[in-house]
Amino acid sequence: MEIILFIFLVVASITFRIFQPKIKGYLGEKSVATIISFLPSNKYKIFNDLLIESNGRTIQIDHLVISIYGIFVIETKNYKGWITGSDNSEYWTKNMFGNKYKFYNPIKQNKAHILALNKQLGISFNNFIPIIAFSNRADLRVNTAYNVIYISQINRLIKEYTDIKFQENDIQKLYDKISQLNIVSPEARRQHISEVHNIIATKEQMIQQGICPKCGHSLVFRSGKYGDFFGCSNYPKCRFTKPIERRSNYFLNKLAKKFIKSLLK
Ligand SMILES: [Zn+2]
Repeated sequence: MEIILFIFLVVASITFRIFQPKIKGYLGEKSVATIISFLPSNKYKIFNDLLIESNGRTIQIDHLVISIYGIFVIETKNYKGWITGSDNSEYWTKNMFGNKYKFYNPIKQNKAHILALNKQLGISFNNFIPIIAFSNRADLRVNTAYNVIYISQINRLIKEYTDIKFQENDIQKLYDKISQLNIVSPEARRQHISEVHNIIATKEQMIQQGICPKCGHSLVFRSGKYGDFFGCSNYPKCRFTKPIERRSNYFLNKLAKKFIKSLLK
């Protein structure tokens, strides 16, 4: 009996570890959707996970809140650890116990989204209000003049905007227009997701061929305090690293995946 319980716990913990990134991303977006749903519905109209086409590319906007006070364009980042960056830098850094991870400057990302909306809707740039919201578990050390806040502060910030920019009846028109732009067909959504996956696949292929996906130099095998990894031969100019999965983990992961597959059958 105890053995069964033990096996169950092991499998459950492995399953959780495999799906953790997906679960986290999902929870992050879900909670913001829940939070903004508490905004008075007679004043604020909401889109979650908006997908629109612009210049032959699809762009995904986490949340959009339309009101007479402006259009709030919300980008959420469900990250833990220290977050550093500035308005003009190309990348920001997430630092967790010395493990650094670079991500594209979310202010720039948000600006690109606003530009696309501005083009599609024909609405002037200053009627849009960008908001970058980080998980409450992040430690924001960002040098910025923009709205870079914690998820829990979203509604308070939105309510601070009280200058009237649109007429009451403009809001419904805007809502209808955006509804039309929003790609809702599962087919088109799937295609967008596969485009994103292709980029990740190419990166993975480059690593497998021993090429640094960040700068194109060759990768070299290194052993460090925290295990083996592939590092860029262009170090310290390029700090790309890819940890090597430990064999025991590799087999455990495979076993767990098999088990999950058999459950889904
Ligand atoms: Zn490199």
